[in-house]
Amino acid sequence: MATELERLAAEAAGCTRCRLHETRTQVVFGEGSPSAELMFVGEAPGFHEDKQGRPFVGPSGQLLNRLLGGIGLRREDVYICNVLKSRPPRNRDPQPDEIAACRYWLDAQVRLVDPKVVVTLGNFAAKTLLDTATGITRLRGRSYPFQGRVLLPTFHPAAALHASGRAGPSPLDGMEEDFRLLAKLLAEHGAAPPGQPADPEGAKGSAVAPDAGGETGASGDGGEPPGSGQLGLF
Ligand code: URA
Repeated sequence: MATELERLAAEAAGCTRCRLHETRTQVVFGEGSPSAELMFVGEAPGFHEDKQGRPFVGPSGQLLNRLLGGIGLRREDVYICNVLKSRPPRNRDPQPDEIAACRYWLDAQVRLVDPKVVVTLGNFAAKTLLDTATGITRLRGRSYPFQGRVLLPTFHPAAALHASGRAGPSPLDGMEEDFRLLAKLLAEHGAAPPGQPADPEGAKGSAVAPDAGGETGASGDGGEPPGSGQLGLF
């Protein structure tokens, strides 16, 4: 019998809630463990994802796989999805009405998978889930409370790939730092990667200061990070 998540995916496959259904090849709902402790939320399907119907299967996905492997996790151990389930034409930025229309699916995915930790990849996912105008460069480096869970914002893998070899703060270094923090958060929340001991003290006070470097996401920084007073909450 189909699970509720499978039924939701089948329903989403025919979604016409926004204009993107006119130009997409197929809906990219999400994939991975339906009971994952860790969920990744990206921006929107790109060219490869739109063709294959799976999230993060292009170059960004290769980098995500490598970063996961670095903390002892495989794709099958986690759940991966996007804010938008349909590819915007020519990978343009998601529009506010598209994000609002697609939110129904994302909220249901979070509820059904019920992860302990949510990692947002890039500006749009962080801003959407934290409901803030602050950009990823300032948000990342620490975790935030999110619907009774923990949310860790990091750069989008595409930003790390595009910036490689450029001068200035490296988004890849930032992502590696964030994944080290992620491993500590998972251990603290009893969701340690296979072979790694749970470490209830590990993540306390380990959040690094928000990066003061340049914005690498699609939209700019602005304002204070939400819940700034909650640094070191864990
Ligand atoms: N970028 C995203 O944000 N999501 C994908 O699935 C692929 C690339």
